[in-house]
Amino acid sequence: MAENFILPDHLKGIEKIYIDRSMVDAPLTVRVKDRLPELPVEVVDPDNFPHGELEGKQSLYLKEYKGRFLRFCPGTRYYHCCGYRIIHIGENCPMACSYCILQAYFQDKVLKVWANQGDLFSELGKAFSADMGTRYRVGTGEFTDSLALEAVTGYSRDLVEFLGDYPNVSLELKSKVIDLSWMDVVKRTDRILPAWSLNAPFINEHEEFGVSTLRERLEAAHTCAQAGFRVCLHFDPIIRFDGWREGYAEIIDMIFDYLRPEQIAYLSMGSFRHMPNLKPIIERNFPDTTYIFDEFITGNDNKMRLLRPLRLRQFKFIVDRLRSHGMDRQLYFCMESSENWQDVFGYTPKDLGGLGRHLMKQAFGD
Ligand code: SF4
Repeated sequence: MAENFILPDHLKGIEKIYIDRSMVDAPLTVRVKDRLPELPVEVVDPDNFPHGELEGKQSLYLKEYKGRFLRFCPGTRYYHCCGYRIIHIGENCPMACSYCILQAYFQDKVLKVWANQGDLFSELGKAFSADMGTRYRVGTGEFTDSLALEAVTGYSRDLVEFLGDYPNVSLELKSKVIDLSWMDVVKRTDRILPAWSLNAPFINEHEEFGVSTLRERLEAAHTCAQAGFRVCLHFDPIIRFDGWREGYAEIIDMIFDYLRPEQIAYLSMGSFRHMPNLKPIIERNFPDTTYIFDEFITGNDNKMRLLRPLRLRQFKFIVDRLRSHGMDRQLYFCMESSENWQDVFGYTPKDLGGLGRHLMKQAFGD
């Protein structure tokens, strides 16, 4: 095992490693086995993956991924999407947030990691070098948490090192854990955006399990800011509960104990929304959860979202509080209409030159 290696608590539930036969000698596989030498390993053929054996167990699957690694975020045409591109590095997450959309996306809890990194880097290299004048805002935290498995895979560190040759790419690493082991390979601190999701303390305590505390996230953000990075923050999902005003006020005020507004590249806000099939899954997996019984309607994208006046009341409160601390143009909504932008911010994405363009500028610090 690598010297001084300490397995973080959120990874201690992993019981077994599965490896695609074609990935047995991949550098990532060698590294993971070195860091988890006590775990049993089974080499599998992808068509015969033993799904039935996994019931209730957590396992890590080092897989050869055959699809596209670089994708568009699955936004919808009805609401303003931020135009972010996803680098797909794996699926699922070892932590457990009651509201997590991944519960509905994936059939099992298997932590899949695409071990054919050579294919990933070759695809990214071709895309990013085709025209070095084209800029990309990319991130890995869409189908997994960007840093949850970092301690055993070192994936983000490899990616950060690789992207050092592409100054036209800004990478966001979005997480709910603390892992700054990628920092020492960063070539340009202005091209990497460490990001943490935040929520009201009540939601952190009652709906997020296996994750770091809010103070730990903000301390890590402070460390990054001290090292010259700008960070991103996300309030998503914003949830209604008794005392939400006090809760969101507390976390917003806490942010500015650790960061100055100019150290924040952008901060997104999204109200809790879900495909109808997520609700019974949350009820089953988190029986104490009550916010799923709030007043939802079906939006144009067929997702359930909180009634507009209730959503706007929360957005206005949060935006006012953030503005009182000096935040403004870094704030944006994830998947809201122009009307709602106008009502809360007093302008629309069009006034910013389009949300995708605006965030590209924020990301690159223009
Ligand atoms: S940390 Fe993110 S990806 Fe992991 S369970 Fe929570 S919401 Fe889902």
